[in-house]
Amino acid sequence: MSATPRLYVKSDLSAKSYAALSADQEKYLTRVLRLKAGDEVRVFNGRDGEWLAIIDEVIGKTVLLKAERLLKPFSASEDLWLLFAPLKKTRTDFVVEKAAELGVSVIRPVMTERTQASRVNTDRLQATAMEAAEQTERQDLPVVEEPAGLDAVLAGWNPARTLIFADEAGDDEEADWGGEHGRAEPMLDVLKTLKPGPAAILIGPEGGFSPEERKMLRSLEFVTPVSLGPRILRAETAAVSALTLWQAALGDWRPRS
Ligand code: SAM
Repeated sequence: MSATPRLYVKSDLSAKSYAALSADQEKYLTRVLRLKAGDEVRVFNGRDGEWLAIIDEVIGKTVLLKAERLLKPFSASEDLWLLFAPLKKTRTDFVVEKAAELGVSVIRPVMTERTQASRVNTDRLQATAMEAAEQTERQDLPVVEEPAGLDAVLAGWNPARTLIFADEAGDDEEADWGGEHGRAEPMLDVLKTLKPGPAAILIGPEGGFSPEERKMLRSLEFVTPVSLGPRILRAETAAVSALTLWQAALGDWRPRS
């Protein structure tokens, strides 16, 4: 793990180009890390790869950071989305941070019938995703989209993207969690039947999906219900588990062919 700080920047990166830093980033480099002229910083922008940059000069609060040489060519994360019903603040932050570490490219908060969080601060979540992307050494940032209702998300869905629906319930509306009948197949078995390609994983709220939502989801051609085992997982545990299984079975935890 390199001790050289790593920052996401928006500007283009090429040899001798200057990286545009935010005021917070300049403060972090000079006040927190106490870096000065001649010190090194790694920068990436989600397009041009990761560059080694040198602090040319610090003038007051401004840091002139010049890209010197390419360290790693750009490589995109898998085309994997996470759709989840927003949770309480810290748990939502946790889901976003883990999704960034687990290589998700789009994070979409989805409002379902039983979603408890009424609003989502996407700016804060995008900042959380950026920090996690810097730490996890990925070459791009996950995009945190504005929250949308489940129906609206499904109405505009591109059927070429498999929607893996983490469904903890069975079909018996009288029994706890729908009883045993109609339960989804184990996720790992289902993944073995899927071709690698664009995918999304859908995780419900603390109170789960309503019977009507489950019925609607299971009626859609592009939806694949999966089970994450015999226990009821917290939504954040379910998100990490499902993303882990997908990356291990179909994603970049396997050597790229
Ligand atoms: N329905 C349960 C209830 O009423 O307590 C709990 C919902 S669980 C806390 C939140 C979400 O995590 C579920 O909607 C589902 O997407 C996912 N999940 C949790 N455990 C799961 C399991 N064993 N199999 C599949 N998905 C699961």
